Formats: sequence, C-alpha cells, structure tokens
Amino acid sequence: MPPTPDPAAGAARTPRTALAELLAGNRRFVSGQPVHGHDVTAAAAVASGDQQPYAVVLGCIDSRVPLEAIFDQTFGSICVIRTGAHVLDRAVLGSIEYVVGQLGVPLVMVLGHERCGAVGSAVEALRTGQRPGGSLAYVIDRIAPAVTEVGAEDPDAHPLAIRRHVRRTVATLRADDLLAGPVVAGEVAVVGALYDLATGEVALLAEEGPEK
Ligand SMILES: [Zn+2]
Repeated sequence: MPPTPDPAAGAARTPRTALAELLAGNRRFVSGQPVHGHDVTAAAAVASGDQQPYAVVLGCIDSRVPLEAIFDQTFGSICVIRTGAHVLDRAVLGSIEYVVGQLGVPLVMVLGHERCGAVGSAVEALRTGQRPGGSLAYVIDRIAPAVTEVGAEDPDAHPLAIRRHVRRTVATLRADDLLAGPVVAGEVAVVGALYDLATGEVALLAEEGPEK
C-alpha cells in the first residue's frame, strides 16, 4: 500500500515535493490501486476541512481526462482549472495567481493530452481557412500560434501542436506578472506534461522542443 499523501504538509511543500506527489498519484491511478479513487463520498468532502492544496493543474475540458481521478487526489489536495486545450484567459490567469499567491501553492502543471479535439479544430481551421464563429473563435485563436509554429500542413501537425501548445502555455504562465518573481526565485514551478489516453500515464514534457 503506498503512503497516503499528505497535502497539508505545510512548510514542507516545495515545487519538487509537490511534483513528486502529483506523479506518484498518477502512478497509483495507472496501477489500478488508487488510494482515493473510491473515496468520493460526501463524508470525504466534509472531512477535507479547510483546503490546503499543494498544486494547481490546468487541463483540457476533455471528458476522458478527469484531473482529480488521474492523479488519485482527494478533496482539498489540488486545484483544477479546465478549459478547451487549457487555453488561458484573464479569469484563468487570475485564478492561478490566487492559488499561488493566496493559498501558497508551489506547483502549476499544464496538462495537455493526446488526440485533443480543440487542438485538432485549430489545425483544421488553419488548413481550411475557415475560422469558427462565436467565442469558439477565441479558443481557436489562442491555439493557432502553436499550430503555425509546427506547420499546419505537416502531416503530424496535430500531435506536434499539442506539445507546442503546452510549452507555449507554460511560457506564458512563467512570464505572468505575479508568477514570474516566485518562479525565478524557485518558490514556484510551472511544468508542462502530457496525458496518454491509451495508458493513463502522465509524462513531463522536456523543457525544449523539437516536437518531433
Ligand atoms: Zn483536449
């Protein structure tokens, strides 16, 4: 039985320990032996008391990637933000600034995933020149630079852009007005990762490309 994570470890929390716990939770999930996977009762929610999260995970809305489940986390342990292809807007940035600045969370993870439909739509929009209407256009426009960078006509544009878009999102967060200082000081880490739909595994992305 793996040790029960202790998200309330307070001063012991560092970017390194937070990342280790998050990845350990994913290994429990992949192994089919989650500690918290079964514990989704109202009683568990009540028992969480005051929240002391140790990480914030920004992921996609994809219904196959429920973040608390794939990291085997309990109530009160991680903050979760989900938008199409983890697109940032000011509400998302402000929410992350709140979690880091007010709750003292040392780790921000940007989690992309294979076969992301939102990234696929951006690839399609650039290939066909047909931009969607409504607010969906806002989402597609935020993803488009990653597609352009890897080359929309590249046969592997979809998987390549998924990786590039994670890296671009990480870079934007590291340069954020309120996050840049703590990041440079080593008090906060922003990392990029990919979720594999076929295995359930989360793998950290290397700091630099190339995507191939
Ligand atoms: Zn997605």
